[in-house]
Amino acid sequence: MTVRTRFAPSPTGYLHIGGVRTALFNWLFTRRHGGQFILRIDDTDIGRNRPEALQPILDGFRWLGILWDEGPEVGGPYAPYFQSQRLDLYRQAARQLVASGYAYPCLATKEELEAERRAAELAKRPYIHRGKGRDLSPGEALQLWQEKQLPLRFKIPVGRKIVLQDIIRKHVEWETDLLGDPVILRSDGTPLYNFATVVDDIAMRITHVIRAAEHLSNTPIQMLIFEALGASLPAFAHVPVVNEPGSKKKLSKRDMKKFVTPEVRAKLRALGYSDAEIDSRDDLNPATVAYYQELGYLPQALVNYLGRLGWSLDDHSEIIPLEQMIRHFSLERVNDAPASFDPDKLYWMAGEYMRQLPIEEKVNGVIPYLVRAGLVPEPITAFLRDRIRQVVEVCGDRLKLFSDILTYGAFFFRDPHYDEAALQKRVGKAGIPEVLQRFMEELGRVEPFTPATLEETLRQFCERENLKAGDLIHALRVITTGVTVGPGLFDVLAILGRQETLRRIELALRRVQGVAQ
Ligand code: GLU
Repeated sequence: MTVRTRFAPSPTGYLHIGGVRTALFNWLFTRRHGGQFILRIDDTDIGRNRPEALQPILDGFRWLGILWDEGPEVGGPYAPYFQSQRLDLYRQAARQLVASGYAYPCLATKEELEAERRAAELAKRPYIHRGKGRDLSPGEALQLWQEKQLPLRFKIPVGRKIVLQDIIRKHVEWETDLLGDPVILRSDGTPLYNFATVVDDIAMRITHVIRAAEHLSNTPIQMLIFEALGASLPAFAHVPVVNEPGSKKKLSKRDMKKFVTPEVRAKLRALGYSDAEIDSRDDLNPATVAYYQELGYLPQALVNYLGRLGWSLDDHSEIIPLEQMIRHFSLERVNDAPASFDPDKLYWMAGEYMRQLPIEEKVNGVIPYLVRAGLVPEPITAFLRDRIRQVVEVCGDRLKLFSDILTYGAFFFRDPHYDEAALQKRVGKAGIPEVLQRFMEELGRVEPFTPATLEETLRQFCERENLKAGDLIHALRVITTGVTVGPGLFDVLAILGRQETLRRIELALRRVQGVAQ
């Protein structure tokens, strides 16, 4: 049997990272078993669908390398892969269910249904709808349905127990007496989720339904529909939800906003976004994949992180290259408890992948960020590329995301943005401006202008001046970078070059003296 899995997003917005994790589990499982992974677009809810939401979903998966074997833009033997284009199939299946006595037209009015619901609420018992149409013969039911274009309901059998051996949740069971008869087809002929899903899972020969645990309550209904349509059941695996860090709350778009730290906000501003955009755009929300793409996370890091979110290879491995993940992925090792999303761990993991990236690829990755922030002009000359490479090198392991170049490297390409307090503390300190004047003379002479000779010169100078080297180093760091932490000072000076270093010292001195006056 060839394994066939599917992910069925509704194009209602950006790709949520919890959804991507579910898709990734489908994909890993399928690759592990040499099967086919299908992307099916669940777009029958006309009111909630946004056609423009499809492209970002496809782009997000492509960026992550989660490629589908059948689905939008690639086609496949079971096309179309958009549920909105499969309405005839649902109608046919619905007809089959009515003709075989498994479905019936809903004769109840809205008011009657509402009254039933309210009565149940008052009596504090669960609302379980059993329609009058249940007793119609299949012939009568078919005729009524066709004549009056009524919605169709599925007839839940009485007094049965549904038992599921879920791969992740293990044994789950339900009493059918606690399930109301669900609508499967609206009067306008559009299907409801539980029905369209089953019709397609059968038609597309899905062998494993791997989906979010929030759908577990739909599963008994779907199992009954499979049975009623005379199809055998796929295996089910319900993947636990992803919660916010340290909380029992499911990741929500609103709450995820708090992970846009001041540092991230500064980067997004540098990329041209306004605060209002940062606060409102979904693609700048850490709950969506687009956010990670925008900030220059390496997709392989995000895949590793999401793959480890609830699944484990053993009890210690965190960095698991994709081939290894595919080779060892199993649904049995997916944890039955909710996973907790940890942005710090993801950031750390991004750094681990970045560390392994060849330098030229890092240079290619940071260039668009420097260009967008207006820090370097295009086209990138060979000279400029060289300089960018040097900057990337001195940023070292600080560069975990491509956009980190804006935090740690921007000052190489523009005047420092001075932290006024730091400037006063380090440069405005008694005696330091005079020392700096004398050190500028040294800097004018030192040859070659390299990290090693610069360090040597500074240390000898400080000895002669009877000065703590740290004091001068701190002052020069603030002067040349604007901030108190960052790449090694002597590397910074060497990359800036003699002229620029001297210019920045003068700039800072003027500023300190100006403020002091
Ligand atoms: N469109 C549904 C969802 O996104 C699909 C659920 C399923 O996989 O059955 O939740």
